[in-house]
Order: sequence, then C-alpha cells, then structure tokens
Amino acid sequence: MKKIIIAIDGLSSTGKSTLAKQIAKQLNYIYVDSGAMYRAVALYALQKKLIIGEEFNKLKMIEALPSVKVSFVYNKKLNISDVYLNDLKVNKAIRSMEVSNVVSVVAAIPQVRQQLVKLQQQMGIQKGVVMDGRDIGSVVFPNADLKLYMTANAGTRAKRRYDELLTSNSNLSLQEVLDNINLRDHLDSTRKDSPLLKSNDAIEFDNSQLSKEQQLEQIMELVNSCLDS
Ligand code: C5P
Repeated sequence: MKKIIIAIDGLSSTGKSTLAKQIAKQLNYIYVDSGAMYRAVALYALQKKLIIGEEFNKLKMIEALPSVKVSFVYNKKLNISDVYLNDLKVNKAIRSMEVSNVVSVVAAIPQVRQQLVKLQQQMGIQKGVVMDGRDIGSVVFPNADLKLYMTANAGTRAKRRYDELLTSNSNLSLQEVLDNINLRDHLDSTRKDSPLLKSNDAIEFDNSQLSKEQQLEQIMELVNSCLDS
C-alpha cells in the first residue's frame, strides 16, 4: 500500500497532536510531535540560564546548538515516543508553563529552526509519517500528500489545555493558560522565519464543536481518499 506524509498545522492547543497520534495509530505510521523538539531546545536554554526573565542570550543559544541533541526513542512498554534532550528523558519537563512561556521566542531563531527542520525532514524520508506543528505543510514538507490546518475558538482551546495540564500542576489558572496560548499564537504567526500560516493547499478544519471521535471519523475520510488516489 502506498505510504503518504500527513502534515497537521494550526494554532496552539487545537488538538493537533491527539489527532496526529490517532491517525498514526490507525495507519501504523510514525507520529512526530515537532513542537516537542522546539520545547526541548527551550528547556535547554532555561537549564543553561540562557534565558533569565526577559533577557535571552540568543548568540549563546546559537553557539550552543551543535551540542543540543533532540531525539525520540520509541518506548515499547507505553507505546509512545520518549523525547530526549541529549541523554535525558524530558517528556514531562518540556510541558511545564516555564517552557511554554519561552518556547516561541526560542522557536523564532532561524538557526534553531534550520537544525530541527533538517531532523524532521530526515524522519519523513521513508514517508508513512504524521507530523504536527506550525510549519509542517509550508516548510518541512511542502509536498506533503495531505495538509490539514486546525482551528478552534480560543476559549475551547484554553479549556482543553488547562484540563490537560491540571493533572500535573494544580496551581494553574485558566487565565494563565489562555494568556500563554494567545501569546504563543501571536509570536508564532508574526515571526519572520516560517510563521504559522495556512498553506493554500491545506484543508482547514474547525473542531470547536466536534468530539475527538467525530473529528477522527471526518479526517479519516480525507486520509482514505488520499490513500486511494
Ligand atoms: O505544538 P506545541 O504547542 O507543543 O509547540 C510549542 C511551540 O513550538 C509553538 O508555540 C511554536 O512556538 C513552536 N513550534 C514551531 N514550529 C513547529 C512546532 C512548534 O515553531 N513546527
């Protein structure tokens, strides 16, 4: 059977990764969470104190890039891919609000993007990949077989992310999560290098009113017609 590349882009917390994981499972494809890679680099910047408060030493970040290795290692037991920053598993650490608050500034650095985009493109060489992010259909895989662009209203997105984060951080407020989502969307859409945008050939999908199951059903119809064509 032919193998395809599916690119899923869109605003923060639109359920891209949940959808991408579901599709990958159904097709037995590799799922790549490109946001996790940017989050890992942001975590590195925080750990090395390249970011302190409002100050970000971008030059030092760029100099350090050759020693920042981000990778995924398949975890057979849990059937997920663990995210590694050099030799450390960082699945949990990259989801903290601290990282969420700085990741878009780190992701705006062209040299960071070049390094990660190269890795992402290598992961797609064999096809059979579902990747989610902000520039997957526009930059990483401009020839992707299927491009989806996910949206949902800000309130729904904040509530979803808040519920997700609440299990690990009970001190969070919904407002804090909403502010972070709005800030990241603004920074991601207005940066010079590879801003978040809907490619002309991407299919826009608003899932504000849909359950995960309804969404998957509708999207799998698109995927299947792509596989049959
Ligand atoms: O997908 P997630 O919300 O975890 O991504 C975190 C951040 O990483 C985004 O807000 C964006 O700044 C950056 N990102 C990016 N390009 C991608 C994926 C994520 O710039 N392809």
